[in-house]
Amino acid sequence: MNSILQHDLNDFENILHTTKQHGINFLNNLENIPTTNNYSIDPKKELNKLGLGSLGALEEFKKRLEPLLVSSPGPRYWGFVTGGSTPASIAGDWLASVYDQNTQATTSQGGNSALIEFETIHLLLQLLGLPDTFLGGFVTGATMSNFTCLGVARQWFGKQLGKDFAKNGISETINILTATPHSSSIKALSMLGIGSQNYTTVKTIEGNREAIDIADLEENIKKLKGKPFILISSAGTVNTADFDDFEAITKLKEKYNFWWHIDAAFGGFAAVSDKYKHLVEGWEEADSITIDCHKWLNVPYESAFYLIKKEHINLQIETFQNSNAPYLGNPLENFNYLNVLPENSRRLRALPVWFSLTAYGKEGFCDIVEKSTSLALHFGNALIEDENFELLAPIRLNNVCFTLKGDENQNKVAQFLTKLNDRGKVFMTPTFYENRKGIRASFVNWRTTENDVKIVIQEMIEVVSEF
Ligand SMILES: *Cc1c(COP(=O)(O)O)cnc(C)c1O
Repeated sequence: MNSILQHDLNDFENILHTTKQHGINFLNNLENIPTTNNYSIDPKKELNKLGLGSLGALEEFKKRLEPLLVSSPGPRYWGFVTGGSTPASIAGDWLASVYDQNTQATTSQGGNSALIEFETIHLLLQLLGLPDTFLGGFVTGATMSNFTCLGVARQWFGKQLGKDFAKNGISETINILTATPHSSSIKALSMLGIGSQNYTTVKTIEGNREAIDIADLEENIKKLKGKPFILISSAGTVNTADFDDFEAITKLKEKYNFWWHIDAAFGGFAAVSDKYKHLVEGWEEADSITIDCHKWLNVPYESAFYLIKKEHINLQIETFQNSNAPYLGNPLENFNYLNVLPENSRRLRALPVWFSLTAYGKEGFCDIVEKSTSLALHFGNALIEDENFELLAPIRLNNVCFTLKGDENQNKVAQFLTKLNDRGKVFMTPTFYENRKGIRASFVNWRTTENDVKIVIQEMIEVVSEF
């Protein structure tokens, strides 16, 4: 063994202890770490001939690289829809690295850790009030979950025409209907060879809504004259957290032949609260659902899962079967994750989620969801009361979409946001909604409090007064 590795092995406990302390220092200081910074490096470091050892690497990391990092797990990082990491999720995430398991199988094919994933999915189904007619698994993010679900939908579509697209490639135009798809679903269409432009946009409901207009959806279905199609629907659009009417879609499903996918990346967590679960009523009838865990579940990146109806398991295996690992017999008995999702090797991604769910229970997550939505309202009300801002859409859940008041100020929105973000106290993302430039603030982090909203409003007033 290399002598430095040997030294590290002997010093393992101290290395982890020192690293832990360093991590704790970062987390304890999140309030003061800026949400953006302009620090930069020349990323052309020359590889050491002689290693520095773990602690030497830590020292160099602290000096050169850590200043690049911003407080994205902190309470005022409101861009993108990003959660922070709860203590239990970090504990689970660390242990996932420590145990470093092969998470494919549930039998003697090299460990039984996939059972942890089964159990975690089972817990998630309970959290979300979904039936166990779904099978689920972990992927890196909602983008990959949309990819996985739409990949199986693609195979389903081929089957309706007597084709096997997974084996022979796509030989027919795939009909896709959607109203306000997330950009990652479009990216999935591109990756799946369906084509990022090959979908039909259905109208949204009139009156500042992003939800699908059911009458127009049915019009578009009729135009297909009985041909199968894939519907990509939304449980929580990023700009205004709008939800499609799942009960109405369920009724359509009784009349027409389609694969129903729901992108519920963050909005699915509405199901956790009695106040908001009406938003997802009827979603259990979907064929597939995408949900992110590194958003409202507040576990570290990279964590999301897909849910696909058990009845589609054969289509799923046809899509993702690893040809070197033919499955034997009953796919549910000789189950192997490598045959049902894009990756072969994966870390034990379920563990941070399992830890979180076990540590905080249904009530813990209900609190996070309800606190986030009340903070969104609080922030929205403060904006309404201020003469400088206006909301672009009503606040339906946890996202606030707003802009500088008045069309004459549209050309200042980008500059305002840059100035605000540059001060490092808050981070929000630019957006474009109803033909206007806007800003989006998303409340998902378990650490955010009313005081953070106060700090941000104060910052915004100071920045706007400079114009
Ligand atoms: C964030 C988000 C995605 C993409 O998720 P990643 O985790 O970034 O891959 C997809 N759909 C919706 C609705 C989202 O909010």
